[in-house]
Amino acid sequence: MLNEILNKSLETGDLTREEILRLLAITDPDEKSRLTETSNAVREKYCGAEVYLRGLIEFSDHCRRNCNYCGVRAGNTCAHRYRIPPDEIVKTAKGIAENTPIKTVVLQSGEDLWYTKDILADIIRRIKSETDLAVTLGVGEREYDEYKAWREAGADRFLLRHEAANRELYKSLHPDSDYDNRMNCLRQLRELGYQVGAGAMVGAPGQTLEHIADDIEFYKTFKPDMIGIGPFISHPDTPYKGAASGTAELTLNVVAVTRIVTRTALLPATTAIGSIDPMGREKALMAGADVMMPNYTPYEYRAMYEIYPDKKCFTEAVDHNLSDAIARIRSVGRVFKGGYGHARRLDK
Ligand code: SAM
Repeated sequence: MLNEILNKSLETGDLTREEILRLLAITDPDEKSRLTETSNAVREKYCGAEVYLRGLIEFSDHCRRNCNYCGVRAGNTCAHRYRIPPDEIVKTAKGIAENTPIKTVVLQSGEDLWYTKDILADIIRRIKSETDLAVTLGVGEREYDEYKAWREAGADRFLLRHEAANRELYKSLHPDSDYDNRMNCLRQLRELGYQVGAGAMVGAPGQTLEHIADDIEFYKTFKPDMIGIGPFISHPDTPYKGAASGTAELTLNVVAVTRIVTRTALLPATTAIGSIDPMGREKALMAGADVMMPNYTPYEYRAMYEIYPDKKCFTEAVDHNLSDAIARIRSVGRVFKGGYGHARRLDK
């Protein structure tokens, strides 16, 4: 049975729900290595050997939402809040463009309305006119006219993890957010011409393999250009304090099955998996991932963006993050060539 599914996976990503569940449930080490050999072969065939780097700037940890898992949730009175001024965001992006071979900057934050439509549009416009960087936004749910203005200012991509394709699970993780609005935002972003990223945590409280299969079936239909998959990590200042964190093992199964099913999606080896397993990012690259996101948040702010505790990169100097990422890429036989790594559907 497993052999048949893995052979089929090499031929097509069109797995049935039962087949997806069988692969997700793998725990036996021998079966696990056969799964990742298969997903790695699919990655090699459809994506090649290159790993793309994105320079991440976490520019604000103010947030109006109360996601139960997140350390920057509005209700966390222990969080140290910061906002990086627009000039400093632009300067940091210029530093990436001038001093590194990285071709994408990711501007990520909590849902912080201090950065209005015009303020963020101006930041994007300045980065696009003063550098040759692709700009990715990850600022959460905003209004259509804001998404439109930022796209017109030159933003190329938008990361908005769907967080849970299952409506009930979404509701239990997000007491003050609306499933339909999040899905609607994803559709609006696509309509506006962004390259769109979705994704979900693995091992969040209440999540079952059936819920993860729902996520994977969502990828089959929505076809995100990028998909962020990382373990849930329990944060002590949230309602999920003391909950078990997700495991690297299950997260790697999800990365592998997502690679098999989507074929060409850009999949990061996330900081979160590197935070629960020192070799987590290498293992993710070997399970089908093809992106890494070194952190370029200016050092004085970095420890404050604490969505989960013990985040890798707190103690690492900026330059170290880049050389560290390239060393990890090479250690698993992959290459870094400094390409943009745009959505593969845009390849000629
Ligand atoms: N506010 C933006 C949004 O809604 O897309 C972007 C920032 S949000 C903090 C980035 C991602 O961090 C979320 O999509 C979530 O999946 C992840 N995250 C938050 N808390 C986490 C935790 N405790 N463990 C692992 N990942 C977490």
